[in-house]
Amino acid sequence: MRETPSDATVPYEPHIGQSRQYWRDIILGVNDGLVSTLLLVAGVVGGGLSSAIILLTVLAGAVAGAISMAAGEYLATESQREILDAELRLEREHIRDHREMEVGQLAEMFTDIGVSPEKLDVVVEAFSETDDVLLNSMKVLEFGVVDSEVRSSYKAMFFSGALFLVGSLTSVVPFLFDVSPVRGLAIASVLTAVGLFIVGWVKASVTRRNRVADGFANLLIAGFGGVLAYFIGDAVQRLIG
Ligand SMILES: [Zn+2]
Repeated sequence: MRETPSDATVPYEPHIGQSRQYWRDIILGVNDGLVSTLLLVAGVVGGGLSSAIILLTVLAGAVAGAISMAAGEYLATESQREILDAELRLEREHIRDHREMEVGQLAEMFTDIGVSPEKLDVVVEAFSETDDVLLNSMKVLEFGVVDSEVRSSYKAMFFSGALFLVGSLTSVVPFLFDVSPVRGLAIASVLTAVGLFIVGWVKASVTRRNRVADGFANLLIAGFGGVLAYFIGDAVQRLIG
């Protein structure tokens, strides 16, 4: 029984779609590019280098960061897929050797979902009709794997690396112009803060949350992380310097 009658006058709002799986890479990539590249600039500006050398350093850092980010995300996504593959191979063996136990688990999961005791037998029966059906049911319910939602390692790699580069731009761009190191750092800091706010704003537009609140939340969390990292780096430098 439906709790609210379906109403044809309410337009059907489409889902975010396949990009859903990559928003974490996009957010992580941009935020990391924004914060870590600015930290790199902050680190070298204190070293008395010329603006031209700082530009080269920051460019190298941005490219290295993007490659490292892309490689890390590729490996992480591949590892996740391999772990799930191994779990599903084991599940196939469980179904072969301990079918009753697996059907029992299935019944428990349907109870957790909220299927009523009267309908439980019928539902469990249908979802365990053959070994393949049971495996697919367990795949979704026990392991949370839906094939259309599986992340491509290549896309994850691309998004996190490319977006890291985009994020690093706020620290690169000021040094493309004839600025003093300190002024360049000041402009980069402002641009990075604006960038962090925009990341939160864009995310909130996709998730239909409060844009201003999410913009400031992202600015505060990532900004605080950056400030903390800067002071820890500074303290370590004082200790060993
Ligand atoms: Zn199992």
